[in-house]
Amino acid sequence: MRGYGRAVGDTAFHLQQDVPVPKPNQGEALVRVLLAGICATDLEIVKGYKAGFHGILGHEFVGTVVSANGDSSGAFPTGTRVVGEINICCSRVDCRACQSGDLVLKRNHCENRKVLGIFNHNQGAFSEYLTMPLENLHVVPDKISSRIAAFTEPFAAACRIIEQNLIQPGDKVAVIGDGRLGLLIALVFCLTCEENNLTLIGKHEEKMNILESNQIKKIVLDDDTKIASDSFDIVIVATGNIVVLYIFVYPFYT
Ligand SMILES: [Zn+2]
Ligand SMILES: [Zn+2]
Repeated sequence: MRGYGRAVGDTAFHLQQDVPVPKPNQGEALVRVLLAGICATDLEIVKGYKAGFHGILGHEFVGTVVSANGDSSGAFPTGTRVVGEINICCSRVDCRACQSGDLVLKRNHCENRKVLGIFNHNQGAFSEYLTMPLENLHVVPDKISSRIAAFTEPFAAACRIIEQNLIQPGDKVAVIGDGRLGLLIALVFCLTCEENNLTLIGKHEEKMNILESNQIKKIVLDDDTKIASDSFDIVIVATGNIVVLYIFVYPFYT
C-alpha cells in the first residue's frame, strides 16, 4: 500500500509505494483510511521534531472497518465508518493507569502508551490502511459527513481543555492563537460553558471571523496592542509562539 513517512535508514519523509498492509492483532481492527487530516504536529515532525520518528505519519483520520478481531468486534461490522482515539494504551496488569478503572486517566497517563503516527507507533493514518484497538474506535453516525468526522481528533484535543475542569463559571478566559486548535477551543468553550467570558486573541482577523459566534470577544493583535496583564483569569495558549506565552504568563510567575 502507499504511505507517507520515513522508513528506517531514510533521511527524509516521502511517499512510499510498498508499505506492507498491517495485520490486526486480537482486539484490533483493520481500517481503510478514507480521509486524513494534516496537523501542525505532522509538519513539525517532518521538519525534525521527534527526530527519531520512523514509519508512517498521521493521526487524524476517518475510515471504514475492513475486519475486526475480538470480543467487541460485533460492534464494528465490515464497512462501518469509524474514527479513533490516538492514545493506544498498554492495558497491562501492572500498569496503574490502565488498571485504575478511570478512562481519562488511562488515556492520558498510561506510561507505556503509543500515540498513533507520533510516538512509539509507526503505522499512522497517512496510508491506505491502519490497525487500531477496538477500544479506541468510535462509530461515526450516518448524519456526520466524513469531512466533518476527520476533525474528531483535533476537536477532542480542544474538548480536553474543558475536561480538565480548570475553568470556573465567571472566569475571564483568553485563547491565544487563531489557528485551527485555537478556533476549535473557542468553539468548544462556547458550546459547553454557560457563563461564557471568552476572548480570542490572534493576528489574523480573517481566520478569527471563521467563528461567527457573537459570544466571543476578539482582539486582533498588532504591534500597538496593549493588554493589561491581569485581564484574564485563565489563558489558554494555542500557538507555538513562545514569546506570546511569556508576555501573558510571566507576570503571574506560573
Ligand atoms: Zn494533531
Ligand atoms: Zn498502561
